[in-house]
Amino acid sequence: AVLDNMEKKEDTYHCYVTVDREGALKQAEEIQKKIDDGTLSGPLAGVPVAIKDNMCTEGLLTTCSSKILYNFVPTFTSEAVLNLQKAGAVILGKTNMDEFAMGSTTETSAYGVTRNPWNPEHVPGGSSGGSAAAVAAEECFYALGSDTGGSIRQPASFCGVVGLKPTYGTVSRYGLIAYGSSLDQIGPLCKDVTDCATILEVIASHDSKDSTSVERLDTDFTSALVEDVKGMKIGIPRDYFGEGLNPEVKEAVLRAAEVLKEKGAIVEEFDLSLVEYAIPTYYTIAAAEASSNLERFDGIKYGYRTEEYQGLHNMYKKSRSEGFGAEVKRRIMLGSFVLSSGYYDAYYLKALRVKALIKKAFDEAFAKYDVILGPVAPTTAPKIGESLSDPIQMYLGDIYTISINLAGLPGLSIPCGRDSKGLPIGMQLIGDCFKEKNLIRAAYTYE
Ligand code: GLN
Repeated sequence: AVLDNMEKKEDTYHCYVTVDREGALKQAEEIQKKIDDGTLSGPLAGVPVAIKDNMCTEGLLTTCSSKILYNFVPTFTSEAVLNLQKAGAVILGKTNMDEFAMGSTTETSAYGVTRNPWNPEHVPGGSSGGSAAAVAAEECFYALGSDTGGSIRQPASFCGVVGLKPTYGTVSRYGLIAYGSSLDQIGPLCKDVTDCATILEVIASHDSKDSTSVERLDTDFTSALVEDVKGMKIGIPRDYFGEGLNPEVKEAVLRAAEVLKEKGAIVEEFDLSLVEYAIPTYYTIAAAEASSNLERFDGIKYGYRTEEYQGLHNMYKKSRSEGFGAEVKRRIMLGSFVLSSGYYDAYYLKALRVKALIKKAFDEAFAKYDVILGPVAPTTAPKIGESLSDPIQMYLGDIYTISINLAGLPGLSIPCGRDSKGLPIGMQLIGDCFKEKNLIRAAYTYE
């Protein structure tokens, strides 16, 4: 059914870089046999999933939506996807994204833009825009995305689906092509909160192949699907509702807070300091890590190599110049600059210090509140083409999501209304480290 749906809709929305039609049908057949002979069961057995194109899948093209990986077929599968496969998931294909997950609109993809299923003139958000749009357009039942500074939560918000970025270390990053390693985390994009908890329960695992993977004993996330927020303390950061926030988004999010209050939560406003420093801090650290992570794409080991060159250095230079897009190059230059001797202390080290202060501000907030509630993004989905000309403006749109990655916290995005153009609005629920269950309970009660 989803493959048929894809055939009707893909031309318009372009959610996928690669659709593995034959492979999916073959997997489905094998899984059906296992279900029939009783060797496989569980809620995800036979359910088709779409995977963001920055997670390695054995034998299936994995491009990061970049020309530099146009022919990269991995020899292994990322741990999160393996966990899904063990649970009987059918992998449909790989979804479009901003090149190397750098962007907020899916427009920096080398393989064309994905369109928002609510209105194809608008972007789906990013960088996991293909995953969010595929769920919204019913071109899959759920999808995996990755979130370095909002890339699950923001497209979920723009496409009217539920997205969750888990606590750093909860889902293995093994096989996730790195952008900002200290910030990256894989998570689900789904139709509702129940799906979200079910999928997180399957993909969360301790993995010795990821040195930042955490051994958790509390990954029974579906146990938090409880309709009860009586006595739950919810904090609303005043700083998240000031200048720059679209009034329709503001109204919808505050209305959602009211709903939780009516259901018994204790809702109050508080000051979350340091919000204004989140963007420069994030873009310094993320670019620094990206510049180092992307050194491996040199035209030799895999991927794109320029056709004509004179000598080794010229080959590197031409392959990288031709293989990377403008946004990726901008980040590599920025990252190399802030890490260079003479500037390291002034920029990179300072950003690390501010990151620690941001974490401290959240620690203080979570001494008082179970959940922090706010918007996901300052606006609803912009029109295609609107954001590309002004990268700084695009970076500013990450204001509410990036500090969560800097602090390693879990964040959930859930639809809470629509604007006057009919585009979805999302609200964000933020929890303390390892407290996804608070988010799931609040979101489930709200839904
Ligand atoms: N928009 C942010 C960036 O471009 C976040 C992207 C992400 O989470 N991968 O870096």
